Amino acid sequence: MDTALSDWFARVGRDLPWRHTRDPYAILVSEIMLQQTQVERVIPRWIAWLERWPTAAALAAASPADVIRAWQGLGYNRRGLALHRAAQAIAADGWPADLTALPGVGPYTAAAVRNFALGEDVLPVDVNIERIQARTGHAFAAASAQALMDLGATVCLARVPRCGECPLAEECPSRGQRYEPARKQSRFEGSFRQRRAGALRLVAEAPRPMAELDAEAVVSLEKDALVQVVDGVVSLPE
Ligand code: SF4
Repeated sequence: MDTALSDWFARVGRDLPWRHTRDPYAILVSEIMLQQTQVERVIPRWIAWLERWPTAAALAAASPADVIRAWQGLGYNRRGLALHRAAQAIAADGWPADLTALPGVGPYTAAAVRNFALGEDVLPVDVNIERIQARTGHAFAAASAQALMDLGATVCLARVPRCGECPLAEECPSRGQRYEPARKQSRFEGSFRQRRAGALRLVAEAPRPMAELDAEAVVSLEKDALVQVVDGVVSLPE
């Protein structure tokens, strides 16, 4: 299956900018951005981020406020702060042997960096890859990771897989099956997440009195160290 997959990937694989680098920092930035944000939205933001902060040391020297501002629009702002803290740890002590020791880096992200940047023989298994493995019953090689990601994103979809276009169809025991709708991502509109994002956007523009803001959202942002409140004025942490 790996050969059929790699032939397919050579023909139709997506040309994503982070696939042209083996710099672990650049790969780490892409993986953290991609954790909860779509590829198309990440591409321009990743390019801009690397232009502004091309190394972990450069990012480590930035203020949390600049990092939060630069993260605006990507969602789940805590990821930006975690990436900043990870960069500070790398700048101070180098890359740890166990990458999950870095803030914001779980087993999947660690495996992705080890594979894509360091060329290690580990397969990063996200929901897409887990799904393809379950459907095909095949244990894929680590070298197939990028191809699996594209297959999961474009062909072996969660609900209605496009088996007619799939390079693995001949050998796949799940070919032609349909699946129940997956659990929808919780709605953003009207959610507390939206209120937090709104309050943070206002504070990112300029410090504001607490009284002008959604107090509940500010308390929650303060808990995540995304804002600070001094004498009733809310600002980004400098
Ligand atoms: S044949 Fe269908 S179910 Fe099997 S891997 Fe391909 S798209 Fe997925």
